[in-house]
Amino acid sequence: MPSQINEQQEPIFATAGLADYHTHTPLCKHAEGWPVELVRRAEELQLAEIGISDHNPMPEKFDDWRMDLEELPLYLEAVAHAREKARIPVRLGLECDFLPGQETWIEDLSKEADWDYLIGSVHYVLPGWDVDNPAKLSEWTRYSVDDVWQIYFETFEKAIRSGLFDFMAHPDLVKKFGRRPEGDLRWFYEGCIAAAAEVGALFELSTAGLRKDCRELYPSRDFLQMACDAGIGIVINSDAHAPLEVGKDYDAAVALAKEVGYDGVWFFEGRERLFKPFLK
Ligand SMILES: [Zn+2]
Ligand SMILES: [Zn+2]
Repeated sequence: MPSQINEQQEPIFATAGLADYHTHTPLCKHAEGWPVELVRRAEELQLAEIGISDHNPMPEKFDDWRMDLEELPLYLEAVAHAREKARIPVRLGLECDFLPGQETWIEDLSKEADWDYLIGSVHYVLPGWDVDNPAKLSEWTRYSVDDVWQIYFETFEKAIRSGLFDFMAHPDLVKKFGRRPEGDLRWFYEGCIAAAAEVGALFELSTAGLRKDCRELYPSRDFLQMACDAGIGIVINSDAHAPLEVGKDYDAAVALAKEVGYDGVWFFEGRERLFKPFLK
């Protein structure tokens, strides 16, 4: 029997009612799609809200994949402009690289705008080596995979303990190129899980890993299971570097989150967090 025309429609997309807080703009020099375009895609996908979170500027020229400090006003303007026509809330975020010893720079940046949230990321495992950079793959030959993983997670734990961030991005980014130590990887995660439980940090469950050589969500199922068992909340994001990546593969992320025991995700406004249960 055909359903009634005025019958309440089921949500069509896995993204319906959720948020995507990890998205980039052309200011970082390796993404396409300005905030207006990212917002348009988010609306198509029935996302409840979207956040823009480009890579943070540094006090001086640092690498070639982030906005310059002089471009920060342009970034804020682009987000404000997108907000004007948006039908959903557009949150203002920033993805901040955690560099041990340079915490005060993040504190300075936190005062530069009315951020809704700051994301903490570890890309640099050693000075000059951003571990996810395909141009630096030769660095892997200088260290054992175990050592790289250990340094990465030690730095990630420090970033969690800094308390500077509203949530922590792609927790096991170090696996991006599919380079993983042998055996059970859970002991690499223990320090970060304990730290997050202690300080009340949140982890991102990112679909970006599915688009990389590791072909897996960030973090792995084991990591996510440990986080859930420890009572640590999550945020589901795409880390979109193009409009069509907004909300990508949310079905896989929601499915894994539910499988390990999560019943919802966290939303942000003005650096306050709010828990939202999954729709169904
Ligand atoms: Zn990026
Ligand atoms: Zn990112």
